[in-house]
Amino acid sequence: MTTLVFYQTILNWYHHFGRKTLPWQIKKNPYKTWISEIMLQQTQVKTVIPYYCKFIKRFPNIDTLSDSPLDSILNLWSGLGYYTRARNIYKTAKILKQKFNGIFPNSYAEIIKLPGIGKSTAGAILSFGFNLYSCILDGNIKRVLIRYYSININNKYIEKLLWKTIESITPIYHTNKFNQALIDIGALICLKSNPKCNICPLKSTCKSYLNNKLFQINCKKNKKHIIPKTKYWFLILQYKNYIFLEKRQNLGIWKKLFCFPQFIRQNDILSWIQKNNTKIKKINILNEFKHKLSHLTLYINPIWIIINKISIFSNNNKTIWYNLNNPQCIGLPTPVTKIITKIKKFNTHHE
Ligand code: SF4
Repeated sequence: MTTLVFYQTILNWYHHFGRKTLPWQIKKNPYKTWISEIMLQQTQVKTVIPYYCKFIKRFPNIDTLSDSPLDSILNLWSGLGYYTRARNIYKTAKILKQKFNGIFPNSYAEIIKLPGIGKSTAGAILSFGFNLYSCILDGNIKRVLIRYYSININNKYIEKLLWKTIESITPIYHTNKFNQALIDIGALICLKSNPKCNICPLKSTCKSYLNNKLFQINCKKNKKHIIPKTKYWFLILQYKNYIFLEKRQNLGIWKKLFCFPQFIRQNDILSWIQKNNTKIKKINILNEFKHKLSHLTLYINPIWIIINKISIFSNNNKTIWYNLNNPQCIGLPTPVTKIITKIKKFNTHHE
């Protein structure tokens, strides 16, 4: 296939089958592209759509975003995971407001300096948001390239090699359509397992397909990762319709999100209760449950304690009494939301 035929094949496929009506593709602008690209990092389109729609409704532009507290951003991000992305969005919004008058810069050199924006995301913002020539190398495109060119995934310099490859094939005309087409071929056809080669526009020249090497190609290196496990106890302290939560200050995954006090040993809960002079009315031990993160599996043991007098007061923004009936606008990690939902249900049934 000549280069020209290759482009035409891809653009022709895009014309008929490419995705053109995703929420961030309608009335698109650099701001919407940026938010969607950050949300799409490590997250599937179908998961992102409802979060994206809510986010854009609440923060339609850089000004509204940069003028809002981080808690309200984390609130809308709750459940989407990888919260560093939300914290970086907040930092970037502040920079855009202060340094660029609330206007997204259209230079690669400026975009790449913004928190949370790497080479591929910068390329996507320029290509989709500004309609400028720029290359993208996301997970979908990588998979297509690796298979199409039958690239050795154990090559030490694979990242460099893939960038070189995409830079050599990205056309200067209709760049955004070409980029979107390759992403879509990766997402819809060249699937991680069971790629649909029979309907792929590239099959007549795809090296892996032609050489029947597809089943040998797993786009991930052959390393078996053992995911560590950790056990935690969560203290759910309830007074009437209020639950005690602490804002995580450390560098962990839930930094700046509100969580239950967390303990490594069960006995530490009792010491905490004594230290805070808390009078217990009732204790419920809830079932342990598992929460999987990309790098860690948490085994969470919630201990639900009902008290009839508040002895701990939230006099700073590091702790709050979360109102179950009228929740504050704060970020909560998924396991915390799960437990709160359970408690609400229980309270409703026992009212
Ligand atoms: S022919 Fe198959 S392996 Fe090759 S790019 Fe298409 S879907 Fe992927």
